[in-house]
Amino acid sequence: MNTQFSFNSPTILITGGAGYIGSHTAFLMYKKGYKVIILDNFWQNQSFNHNWAQVIKGDFADKKILEKIFKENQIDAVMHFAAFIEVGESVKNPLKYYQNNVVKTLDLLEVMLKHDVKKFIFSSSCAIYGIPQYLPLDENHPKNPINPYGKCKLIIEETLKDLYNSHNLKFVSLRYFNAAGSLFGENLGERHLNETHLIPLLLRAAKKNKTFTIFGDGYKTKDGSCVRDFVHVSDIAQAHVLALEYLNKNECSDFFNLGTGNGFSVKEIVAAVEKILTTKIKIKVEKRREGDPAILVADSSKANEILNWKPKYSDLENILKSALHFENIIYKDKNYSEEVQKF
Ligand code: UDP
Repeated sequence: MNTQFSFNSPTILITGGAGYIGSHTAFLMYKKGYKVIILDNFWQNQSFNHNWAQVIKGDFADKKILEKIFKENQIDAVMHFAAFIEVGESVKNPLKYYQNNVVKTLDLLEVMLKHDVKKFIFSSSCAIYGIPQYLPLDENHPKNPINPYGKCKLIIEETLKDLYNSHNLKFVSLRYFNAAGSLFGENLGERHLNETHLIPLLLRAAKKNKTFTIFGDGYKTKDGSCVRDFVHVSDIAQAHVLALEYLNKNECSDFFNLGTGNGFSVKEIVAAVEKILTTKIKIKVEKRREGDPAILVADSSKANEILNWKPKYSDLENILKSALHFENIIYKDKNYSEEVQKF
């Protein structure tokens, strides 16, 4: 594998490239020989000591910074990860989401187009579908998001379609299901202030012998708890590489689901973590979290057929063991331990 970019390597701007999915993708792009520029505001206070990318600290919609980046570099494509990501928070504070995830993304697109950059890869989400009318969800499923987070993603997808028509902006929108796991050995993983995601919280509960809360067990699912489709972050990163190759070869744009097609319930994930850590986790059940559909499982055959995307790392054991590997790293990180200890 080529791990050195050359003078002629295409340069990719990655917003949110110091975040969870962005950093895994940025690293893979570097490994594939691209020159990577990361623009990230580091609002998660994450440490990011990697020399394989040029890192610019700043807001992804800061026009001064963007102008400088686009003037000084021949940007081939933009991968846009930077966004707020909590469904529950988006229900409580919609303006925060519309402002950041919609308005500021429009600013980014405006500057891109001004500089004639015409390839865009967007981090979308299965949240755009809302309550499934059938399963697994394919890309043609009606789009009825039930929370502002999903609505923001849909607004940007619609905007991208319009910009494709008006400005010939080529894009791929990747609709992630539940990203999880980490890349072994690269100090990359899921690290959020005020963590809300199932797998890191469960691992912490298990390691610290604390109670884990299941949000609702009265759903119409196999065991009453929500069912999700967990896909390894390295597989998601690989889809971005393939999406860029697709844009390089084709004069069209498209939308793809990224999931495995396997649904695991929250209770099944609890049992799997207990097995891996050979421990029993204390559980309490609370009311449902607002904005949570009962089941989200992907039909990703389109990504398979058109992008040739095949998840390689997404079996549940690998997802959980790699997530645990990173949890063990952040436990030792002095910058971060205070946050984790609060749990
Ligand atoms: N969940 C839970 N307890 C937690 C965190 C999450 O029961 O402490 C459930 C949540 O209600 C959802 C599933 O786990 O059904 C996955 O939630 P997560 O926040 O990880 O991802 P999302 O599906 O919101 O993208």
